[in-house]
Formats: sequence, C-alpha cells, structure tokens
Amino acid sequence: MVDPREAVAAVVDPEIRVITIDELGILRAVEKDPATGRVTVTITPTYTGCPAMDVIRADIRRALAAAGHPDADVRTVYSPAWSTDWISAAGRAKLAAAGIAPPPATRDAGTAPATRAGTVVPLTLAVRCPLCGSAETEQVSRFGSTACKALWRCRACREPFDHLKAL
Ligand SMILES: [Zn+2]
Repeated sequence: MVDPREAVAAVVDPEIRVITIDELGILRAVEKDPATGRVTVTITPTYTGCPAMDVIRADIRRALAAAGHPDADVRTVYSPAWSTDWISAAGRAKLAAAGIAPPPATRDAGTAPATRAGTVVPLTLAVRCPLCGSAETEQVSRFGSTACKALWRCRACREPFDHLKAL
C-alpha cells in the first residue's frame, strides 16, 4: 500500500501535464482516518470554475484506489484562495521548460520586480516570452487553451504562448 499523500502528490494537472498538483500548489492536505481507512483530500482550485477540477478530482480518486485506498473523499476549499505564489520552485522550472510562462513569484524577494516609489510596474509587463525571454509581450485573449490560462503573444519573436493567470 502506497502512502496516500505520496499517491495524491504524484497526480499531474490534466491541462499542464508536466506539473503535479502538489507542485502547482493546489494540494492542501491528505488525511487518513486511522479508524475507517477513509482518505480525505483537500484541494484549492487555481481558478474559480476551472473545468479541470472535475478531472483532477477523478484522477485523485483513481490514484488513491490504485494505491490501495478505495475509500476517498475530495474536498474543495476556496479560502484561502490559490495564488500563483503557491507554485513550487520545481513547478516553475517545469512550466518554463514546457513553454508556459510562470507568473512572477511575488514572495521570492530575489526575483520580484523592483518597485521603487512612484514607479509601480503593472503585472502584465512582467510577462516574459518563454521562448526568447523578451518582455515585449501582449495579451491576445483572456482565455487561452483552457480557462486557467491566458493567451499571449511575443512581439519580438511573434510566437504565441500560454500564461498562467496570476491571481
Ligand atoms: Zn519571444
């Protein structure tokens, strides 16, 4: 029998298949009731109404059943709201490698854009092209290939790319 936390942490995001739900930061808790053996998983959606959440719930139950925990309950918690700050460093690296621009980590002091008094840079200007690294990018559509991503285009290399919505 595989540890339930381990089994759930390995579930990949159905839309961004290179990243696990643990790396994406949407996996909040995995608890097993020692008396009943029932596993309760708590997740926080990346985006309200994100259709991928139904798939994630089903994937979690399937992973738990395969790991020897058929009795599972998946709870969705909206508070505190998921933020792109919850994406792990490994997750950010995987997103970048997959050509998805990871949102800037506002919590990491080292990578946060310097905001001097009077020069507050809008978040949209921080979106860099994952292909050539240019900051000359523009949002093409609020909805990219999925409801959780927005479609952007690079003005330097003219390539479109998905950008995770920064919430
Ligand atoms: Zn580019």
